[in-house]
Amino acid sequence: MAHTKKNRFVKTSNSWRFRGNEVKYVREVLNSGFGSSTSGNMNQRYERAFSGRFGTKYAVTSNSGTSTLHQALMAFGVGPGDEVILPALTVVMCGYAVIHAGARPVFADVDPDTFLIDPKDIERKITSRTKAIMPVHLYGQVCDMRSIMKIAKKHRLAVVEDCAQCYLGTDDTGRLGGTIGDVGSFSTENSKHISTGDGGILITNSEVLAERMRKFGGMGFKNIRAQNGQVRKNKDTFQDPKYLRHDTFGYNYRLPEVAAAIGLAQVEQIDFLVRKRQQIAAKYLKALKGCDWIIPQRVPKGSINSYYTFAVRYEGEKKRGVSWYNFRKKFMEFGGDGIYAAWALVYNEPIMQLINKKGAFFPGLPNQARQFKGYLKRVSCPKAEKLQPLIMQFTTNQGIEKDMDLQMNALKKAIRFFDEQYT
Ligand SMILES: *Cc1c(COP(=O)(O)O)cnc(C)c1O
Repeated sequence: MAHTKKNRFVKTSNSWRFRGNEVKYVREVLNSGFGSSTSGNMNQRYERAFSGRFGTKYAVTSNSGTSTLHQALMAFGVGPGDEVILPALTVVMCGYAVIHAGARPVFADVDPDTFLIDPKDIERKITSRTKAIMPVHLYGQVCDMRSIMKIAKKHRLAVVEDCAQCYLGTDDTGRLGGTIGDVGSFSTENSKHISTGDGGILITNSEVLAERMRKFGGMGFKNIRAQNGQVRKNKDTFQDPKYLRHDTFGYNYRLPEVAAAIGLAQVEQIDFLVRKRQQIAAKYLKALKGCDWIIPQRVPKGSINSYYTFAVRYEGEKKRGVSWYNFRKKFMEFGGDGIYAAWALVYNEPIMQLINKKGAFFPGLPNQARQFKGYLKRVSCPKAEKLQPLIMQFTTNQGIEKDMDLQMNALKKAIRFFDEQYT
């Protein structure tokens, strides 16, 4: 923590991520007096920079990476009676988005080595009601998109890639995550590679999808187009009692201009920010050399992992007699950051069970979700069940080499400590 004379705010260890034009662009927004909150100028600049970096025709900003998933599913036409296939191992919000769209989430199992959705299980779980697939590029690694797109094509399914944890990662053919399916969905919540505090952004090459996603997130204003979200074009036509504004259903998922300003500055730094995470991941990999009881997320040949976190399968319980918790404790004693556990499988979260059992969104308020009652009847993801308790996520948000080395050395020491105890 360091105070500076000019800046009365306390800088934390994470503030290194905002070293670019963030303040300058926020200042521009404030200096404009917000013009009109619907002018969307900074959002448009941010979108152009983002779609430019990813090489897509359109980018659409949003207020979160949960909203973006909802927008994508709505744009696909997903609704009641439909099913959407997603991995069991991901954040619960992926399941929320499906339910919010009125459809049923169907959970596919994951590969125990890549930790990602298993295409073979996707195919097994397709029914006549399946409308879309939501592969999640977990921990920074792109799913097996070759197989997934083959399945999608064969069964005519829409694909939304959840890239909240994967910026500039590629599959084994070198394609960027988010540019392979119909839509790529990103979150810029605080923990992600690039951050606007909270926020989200969608990319696509489809004009139809871009316009639907933007309209759905922009309250259905009829002036909204795929390219931009400007609502008030000409005051004189707008200010007329006969003027009709809305031709589509939608919510307010707009990203504030101030957040878009930070987003623009973050995109300018995106390669640097991703490289930092890959740099510490390389150090963790070095620390794991020769260790057969901590297995890193498998990166298929030709793929690039963007390492949102450095995820491993911990087998120390079986192979060293050391529990998950005791390894974490020892790692921290050696100066390591807290290791993160994997979230519970989506369908094991109490709310997802409540929806299944009671058809309720809130305990004590029955019937609100009665159409989803029993939706978990056939759920079966044995590999994910086995894998989830073994996952450890090491942090990758260190800004300087000294902090990275501290983590690498803590990992080395913890491994050596338990190896020596064992032999
Ligand atoms: C963070 C995250 C989300 C949700 O993003 P928010 O911006 O927090 O709503 C969705 N999916 C995955 C995989 C995430 O990591």
